Amino acid sequence: MASGGYAFPAAPTMDEWRRPPDDGAVQCTHIDAAMAKASCAKLGYFQDPYTEQLIRSRPSSGSPLIHRGYWSRVEAIRQSVLRFVQEAPAKEGVQVVNLGAGFDTLYFWLREDASRWRDDLIYFEVDFPEVLGKKISAISRRQNLWPMLDVSSMEELTTRSSMGMREIRTKHCRMVQADMRISSELSAAMESCGLRADLPTIFIAECVLVYMQAAHGDGIIQWAASAVSAPSAMVMYEQTNPHDRFGKVMVKNLAERGCPLLSVFDYPSMEAQKNRFLEKGWSRCQVKDMNEIYKNHLDQSEVERIHKLELMDEFEEWHLIQGHYFVLCASRPETDLWVHNCTIFNKTPAEEN
Ligand code: SAH
Repeated sequence: MASGGYAFPAAPTMDEWRRPPDDGAVQCTHIDAAMAKASCAKLGYFQDPYTEQLIRSRPSSGSPLIHRGYWSRVEAIRQSVLRFVQEAPAKEGVQVVNLGAGFDTLYFWLREDASRWRDDLIYFEVDFPEVLGKKISAISRRQNLWPMLDVSSMEELTTRSSMGMREIRTKHCRMVQADMRISSELSAAMESCGLRADLPTIFIAECVLVYMQAAHGDGIIQWAASAVSAPSAMVMYEQTNPHDRFGKVMVKNLAERGCPLLSVFDYPSMEAQKNRFLEKGWSRCQVKDMNEIYKNHLDQSEVERIHKLELMDEFEEWHLIQGHYFVLCASRPETDLWVHNCTIFNKTPAEEN
């Protein structure tokens, strides 16, 4: 697929991209993400034996371009979370909150390796009941995963909510079924799952907020900034730059699939996203596009390794795609230096040597 293979249609009209969101289509974006991640894992881009256990396995699909993009996305999020988890004061507790988690398996990745795991870590996954219900069913069918959730029977694995929904509330993993656009629903659900205000917390929003109206995303960013009094961070990965030629195609393609990038025109640049976070309660914020992340902030020996997995020669298109995604890391409060210095943008002392 060369860049010339793209048709550049006219930009969508304002009415087209502002069509009311289709929750069903947005919920389904987790399937695309899980499929692509499973495909990467099968080909050896990263270790993840879990995603394919949760979704109906298909032969690996997707182009080298897609695989490299997903590899860099997963690696950037993993490393951001890992640094936070490693830097948070030892033995005092630390929380990870994956907002719009879909079928993501970061919990299992942290848990599987003693060098990444902390026994005082609590991991929360938030998504619509329709999505987490399916994830809970899938985990219920995979007994081999239960030990990683500290349970050995169905009775221990799932409980019933007052509304009759099946829930996972284990010692270290809590699945929170809520529509995050409704702030009161989000904060009540998090509280009832045991989110603690006094523990350092990192929030993840990986391809989530861009699918909602800007005001809803604003509410979530603001809620996250005030949800804990302890130092906290938020890492976000999503699309940007809707106004150039490639951006217009990207916007149109997703709108046609029923999941428009609803907030991309309200915050159309990385600078706008940074200001958004600073205005919504975060003290510091760094943001870079995926070309820069790939070149300067991911482990270059890993980059070399994955380049050998599949041949890829669509460099022009590769840089275009990566220039339309970014990683943002926000942190607070201003007074706690460790929380500002543990993002993937800051090199660790070992890397500086
Ligand atoms: N972060 C995951 C999934 C991305 S797909 C990953 O990168 O693999 C986007 C996810 O956000 C979907 O699972 C969708 O259901 C969820 N989502 C979108 N809007 C939401 C809302 N208002 N409340 C809860 N979850 C939402």
